[in-house]
Amino acid sequence: MSNPFDLTGRAALVTGGNGGIGFGIARGLAEAGAMVAIAGRNTAKNSKAVAELEALGAKAIAVEADVSDEASVAAMTSQVAERFGRIDILVANAGINIRKPPEDYALAEWHQIINANLTSLFLCANAVLPAFRAAGAGKIITIGSMSSIFGGAIIGPYAASKGAVVQFTRSLAVAWAKHNVQVNSILPGFIDTDLTRGGRQSAPEMFARIVERTPAGRWGQPEDLAGLAVFLASRASDFITGTAIPADGGYSIQL
Ligand code: NDP
Repeated sequence: MSNPFDLTGRAALVTGGNGGIGFGIARGLAEAGAMVAIAGRNTAKNSKAVAELEALGAKAIAVEADVSDEASVAAMTSQVAERFGRIDILVANAGINIRKPPEDYALAEWHQIINANLTSLFLCANAVLPAFRAAGAGKIITIGSMSSIFGGAIIGPYAASKGAVVQFTRSLAVAWAKHNVQVNSILPGFIDTDLTRGGRQSAPEMFARIVERTPAGRWGQPEDLAGLAVFLASRASDFITGTAIPADGGYSIQL
């Protein structure tokens, strides 16, 4: 029997795949056999990530794109479809955070976070649907957070966006089951990336508490997300949709 996790011949688009969690996932998908397109705004980071994926023997491309911009998302998706001839997997991973008390955000900052983390999912999911419908199947993996479950004093707009990512994931899963599209969310725990490095410096006591509270007793690394992403991208998960699965070293199940 063939390996149910094998992604040979599949084409994946990973937004924010040029670093951090996105790169960890892109690498996992490539190692499982997929062709991988990574999308990000920074061309230097894009080129470096593609070179690393190619060094693994993977077919990889980079697309410069801003996922909060409708025209940019449309151009990104058509470039990937053209270069690979198909799109089977979307990992809607790109995201940002700005940390401060709720009363200190400018409205523009609120919109910036919601657009990058949530509107981007709306845009990217709708942009890949035609390719999925043409193929008769598709997989979408969204990236939530511990803040999809918990609130935090200096992450209000981020937590609002990540809670909504999970609810939109469920709605997409219900709506597109008839197209044989499965839509699931990964809720990463605390992962060592550029995104969290700044916060660790500005609120060290909060970040020390995180390790104390995590049963695994450590921060996660980007590669800790790869196995779950491969599972959710593969036919092994064809009867699984609308879920939000923590990959958090146990953070969310300890009192
Ligand atoms: P990084 O800052 O390391 O990576 C973020 C990625 O998103 C970069 O590749 C960046 O590329 C890309 N990106 C950001 N904004 C845009 C945009 N508008 N258009 C295109 N690409 C964009 O962060 P992480 O790897 O930590 O975060 C990845 C995801 O995981 C995010 O959704 C984050 O919320 C989530 N997450 C992270 C956790 C953690 O502990 N690290 C915990 C829970 C969730 P570029 O700058 O080139 O555009």
